[in-house]
Amino acid sequence: MKKGTVFVLSGPAGSGKSTVRERLMNRGLNFHYSVSDTTRAPRGTEKNGVDYGFVTKEQFEEGIKNGNYYEYARYTGEYYGTPVSQLTPYIERGVNVILEIEVAGAMQVKAKDENAVLVMLLPPSYKVLEERLRGRGTESEEKILKRLARAKEEIQLFDKYDYFLLNGDGKIDDCVRQLELIAETQQYKTKNNPDFPRIFFNTEE
Ligand code: 5GP
Repeated sequence: MKKGTVFVLSGPAGSGKSTVRERLMNRGLNFHYSVSDTTRAPRGTEKNGVDYGFVTKEQFEEGIKNGNYYEYARYTGEYYGTPVSQLTPYIERGVNVILEIEVAGAMQVKAKDENAVLVMLLPPSYKVLEERLRGRGTESEEKILKRLARAKEEIQLFDKYDYFLLNGDGKIDDCVRQLELIAETQQYKTKNNPDFPRIFFNTEE
């Protein structure tokens, strides 16, 4: 049976990742959104098991020891990781999985699965990113500077990604459509269809 593909969506805070991912999921495609575990506290209306699995540091470290994470990383002092159970069973059943994770985790995914598709979502420029983060008006100057510094680091890994999408103002739906196209294209990759020659010769007309 044909396996599903792993899609990784990364991008700095303020790039619009969650909106793009949510809209993609709403288009009724054959996608499972991988719900990560994290040790950070829930924010706003976030629900356990929906937005994240909220776990303690001890639980997370136990999970690492037991090999329960497909990838994991630390981000601003907290653990974030993709449980194997959110990925492997879906891929085996031919369902595509989308991970919304930061760059260190994305590199681990690529190292494990060369067919994984890495997509970086970016604002059109650093200046726009800065304006968006300041425009939210919800974070302290210190936090904004931390996120900007982190964004600079993340963009260093630009060439390790397969695709990038530019989320300019009012361009969210364009990004969703482009991501959908990228997903569709993967179906026609010879590498993703290793059984095709066998099927080709075995087909009885
Ligand atoms: P936030 O705390 O804003 O929800 O997430 C912080 C960062 O962690 C974001 O860049 C988010 O994409 C990333 N992240 C969320 N889940 C995971 C995960 O399972 N693994 C890794 N490596 N990063 C994650």
